This record gives sequence, structure tokens and C-alpha cells, in this order.
Amino acid sequence: IFLPHLVASLEVEETYIMIKPDGVQRCLIGEIISRFEKKGFKLKGLKLFQCPQELAQEHYKDLQSKPFFPKLINYITSGPVVCMAWEGVGVVASARKLIGVTNPLNAEPGTIRGDLAVQTGRNVVHGSDSPENGKREIALWFKEGELCEWTPVLEPWLTE
Ligand code: GDP
Ligand code: MG
Repeated sequence: IFLPHLVASLEVEETYIMIKPDGVQRCLIGEIISRFEKKGFKLKGLKLFQCPQELAQEHYKDLQSKPFFPKLINYITSGPVVCMAWEGVGVVASARKLIGVTNPLNAEPGTIRGDLAVQTGRNVVHGSDSPENGKREIALWFKEGELCEWTPVLEPWLTE
């Protein structure tokens, strides 16, 4: 089957990755960040943040009508999250692959959810599902001045 959101593009994109409160409480911050770092993407923004109710609702507004929405908002606001902006060619789809599918029991071993979680309602990490949502979510979670433009010295060793 054709899964357009899982086919990595050749464009430089940005994606919003967030370690959810369970990932923070379970001391998985370093483990999760290092997977994106080792892959070779560029970190542009990073902060520990207590998410207010309204922001959680705006972030997940497409899921408003779902029966689990109130639980989801409670979960995301239940403790600090780690907010990240990552940049790279095809980063949106590639990050979704590194994260694994929504239900951790179905996520492949080797993925973050496949290795580190067991329940959909505690799936440790978020990743944007399209380049448009990547931009939207980074703008939603980061203020001006919180993102860095920089050139990693390893760039020539990651891209030709
Ligand atoms: P994602 O893009 O893989 O994170 O999945 P979705 O965008 O479909 O859902 C967003 C988040 O809502 C998921 O990561 C889960 O934390 C939560 N969620 C989705 N479906 C369910 C569900 O059936 N039950 C519960 N408790 N949470 C859910
Ligand atoms: Mg989603």
C-alpha cells in the first residue's frame, strides 16, 4: 500500500519532535534525543517545558472529537515535556520511522516506541506527520529567538 506520509522527500524540512511526560519521567530524554542526533539530523531548538492546557488542545485540535481527547490532554499536561525542532532532508517521514507506529505493541523493534513503550496512551514521543504540520507545530511550541541557525561541522560527512 502507498503511505505518502512515510515516503521520505528530497526536500529540506523541519519537524517537531516532543518527548512526552512519560518519556521524561522514565528518564528516556537522553536515549530519545540521541537517536535523532546519531541519525544525522540537525537540532534547531530544544527546551524542557510544562505545557499549558490550551496549547495541548491547539496542538491536538484534529483529535478534538475523539473519545480519548480529554485523556490525551491530561497526559500531555501531566508533567514537563521536551520540545525539539529538527531539520534535514526528508526529516518528517524519517523521524516518523525512527519513532514507530502509534501503538507501541505494533511498532517495530528498533523504533523508539517499539523498543521503549507498550501502550498508545503512553507512547513516549510525538513527531509531526507532514512538513506543513512540522512548520505549524514548531511555530506553536517555540517563540522567536528560541531556534538556532547553525552549521554542524559534521555536515560534509553526512551529506555529499
Ligand atoms: P501519532 O501521530 O502516532 O502520535 O498518533 P495520532 O496523531 O493518531 O494520535 C496522537 C496521540 O494521541 C498518540 O500519539 C497517542 O498518544 C494518543 N492516542 C491516539 N489514539 C489513542 C487511543 O486510542 N487511546 C489513547 N488513550 N490515546 C490515543
Ligand atoms: Mg499525529
